[in-house]
Amino acid sequence: MNDQELLRYSRHILLDEIGIEGQDRLRASTMLIVGAGGLGSPAALYLAAAGVGRLLLADGDTVDLTNLQRQILHTPARVGWPKVESGRAALQELNPAVEVVALNARLSGEALQAAVAEATVVLDCCDNFETRHAVNRACVRAGIPLVSGAAIRFDGQLAVFDPRQPDSPCYHCLFPDTEVPDPVQCATMGVFAPLTGMIGTLQAAEALKIAGGFGRPFVGSLLLLDARSLEISRMTVPRDPHCAVCGPQQARSGEPGA
Ligand SMILES: [Zn+2]
Repeated sequence: MNDQELLRYSRHILLDEIGIEGQDRLRASTMLIVGAGGLGSPAALYLAAAGVGRLLLADGDTVDLTNLQRQILHTPARVGWPKVESGRAALQELNPAVEVVALNARLSGEALQAAVAEATVVLDCCDNFETRHAVNRACVRAGIPLVSGAAIRFDGQLAVFDPRQPDSPCYHCLFPDTEVPDPVQCATMGVFAPLTGMIGTLQAAEALKIAGGFGRPFVGSLLLLDARSLEISRMTVPRDPHCAVCGPQQARSGEPGA
């Protein structure tokens, strides 16, 4: 690290848990952020500010006026832009040293698997269950940790899955894809603006802990946050030994899920 970097990240380096070694690990890491919306905005801003070396930002949508109430990567002047280009502009302004790769697509199939394989950790900041399950399958297959967030109305959720740990559940253990709700609902329901900031910021914190090798990542639990009352609860999420994605028969075949 040069003098400018030592200054820029000094408040991290001063932390015993992080130090120069942890900050170096952050700079050496690549993070995939799936979704540049309400959750992806605060997550990406904190990851860029904190000095993650490379951010892959994936989203196939364009910036819409209705996004600006909570999607703080975007501005009125960039309405109509691809979200990933708007996001890249915001992130490069915040920290020019971070390499931001804009993936202007709703990732699936080979493109998703390739992006996941490049990542030290993946943040699921998307708004639909189809992508959530696809991202989970790709992470299990590649053995990459996944930080999953969700925010709808006043209700937020956070969970961390780490396929490198034998007792870690995966997203499918928690939410089997036989119970997928109507995908249209998510796009048309309201959401409390700062709730997306609260959950997205928690996602950034968990991703930094994993990549930086400090703290104790929130693996094996589900955090539920009710922003009406600020009641926060957590429940243990065990691994499902018969999970169709991370179960032993899937691991053996190398083909987790459909
Ligand atoms: Zn599973």
